[in-house]
Amino acid sequence: RHDMSATESIPTRELAERAKAITQRELQVYIGRTKGSQAATERAREVLPMGVPSSFQAYDPHPIVVRRAQDGWMEDVDGHRYVDFDMGYGALFSGHCHPAVRRAVETQMDNGTLFVTPCEMNAEVAELLRDRYNLPMWRFTNSGTEATMDAIRVARGVTGREKIVKVEGGYHGHHDEVMISMKPPISEAGPADSPRAIPSTAGITRAVLQDTGVIPYNNLEPLDRALSGRDVACFIVEPIMENIGICKPLPGYLEGVREITRKYGTMLIFDEVKTGITAGWGGATGVVGVQPDLVALAKSIGGGLPLGAFGGTSECMDQITAGKVLHLGTYNGNPLCMAAAKAVLTEICTPAATDEAIARNRMLLDACDGIIAAAGLPAHTVQFGAKGCVTWAPEPIQNYRDYKATDFDLAFAQWMHGINRGILLPPGLDEQWLISVVPTDHDALRYADVFGEFVAELTA
Ligand code: PMP
Repeated sequence: RHDMSATESIPTRELAERAKAITQRELQVYIGRTKGSQAATERAREVLPMGVPSSFQAYDPHPIVVRRAQDGWMEDVDGHRYVDFDMGYGALFSGHCHPAVRRAVETQMDNGTLFVTPCEMNAEVAELLRDRYNLPMWRFTNSGTEATMDAIRVARGVTGREKIVKVEGGYHGHHDEVMISMKPPISEAGPADSPRAIPSTAGITRAVLQDTGVIPYNNLEPLDRALSGRDVACFIVEPIMENIGICKPLPGYLEGVREITRKYGTMLIFDEVKTGITAGWGGATGVVGVQPDLVALAKSIGGGLPLGAFGGTSECMDQITAGKVLHLGTYNGNPLCMAAAKAVLTEICTPAATDEAIARNRMLLDACDGIIAAAGLPAHTVQFGAKGCVTWAPEPIQNYRDYKATDFDLAFAQWMHGINRGILLPPGLDEQWLISVVPTDHDALRYADVFGEFVAELTA
């Protein structure tokens, strides 16, 4: 489909200059076509800091303000349609308002939205997660943040230890102990193999900072060093990092992580908020075949409703059974979210539908690979399950430092160019697309068409 003969390679600096010129032009186009979003944002800024409900949603000059979404598309207040590749930061593997989610939620509405006493679906959904993740006991939360927060507390309870260790560049939600070294400035971050822990926000106490150790991904020696004092409760990690594009483990890395955490009696928490059910039917845990002590889930399990969960070994979860670790929440396991999750886990994201979405994603990645190869660009694609990304670097990245060395001028120009042509990617340049179980091949490939137009202009 694409001419594979590499065109004469254009120096990277020249590409970055061209990218900046594209960004400048597209920014003007964006301002011209999103007057409604601009007005809505200006109004919102009067009453909401940055005019948004979560600071991740803010970008310059103003974000797209959306009025409706269905299946694989969204429509903004100016009436423009976008093929949605962001899909709620990966929360919408079922697509927007899947008919089965709608049916389940509407049926539940007839029977009530909140009981604060159990419903039968609590056990049903927990059984479905147990079967996928091979962990026996579960509890529900309302977000990924709560899921990682509670999993960490359980790990502290079961070990009687206070310290935790996380990966530099890793995101695990917005509670204090993990809002450390999320995206630290390299100039302050210290040596690559023993990074400094840097708070990512004001409001983190020194005590919390002292209790959180930070290590690089894909490097076992610093992990061994960090855990060797036998005073670390847990190592929390995304098995495949999905907040710096997609960063995969080197062969043997996760097996090594399991061995080292076990050696020192440290609980291993897999944060599968993003990889859960999108990586494959059994999440990243199923794909990599390494069993953690605790798993944190959220996003796609809720089918668009706010639902998180964490599961663990009997040893871990007995902490809650015994009343040593308290796990609470008014909205935990509410019947509306349970009904949605049950539809997602049984009717929608079946093994076959999951595999089909992953195959459709492969097709899109192949199309992008062809474009990159034909143009001889310093870029490559990465796939993990139904997610994918273009990373603007010649070689795969292995950690946060590699990610910081990728070309953000090119990435931003591509994002800006796409949005003006109806392709909505996540705004942070650090996320990835999700191919849901819903869109047709045509919609998925639309990304490659627009990407091809961008590359043609860049290399003309
Ligand atoms: N963990 C990971 C890996 C995430 O990507 C996110 C959110 N992007 C969270 C935790 C937090 O989830 P939530 O936004 O639902 O609190």
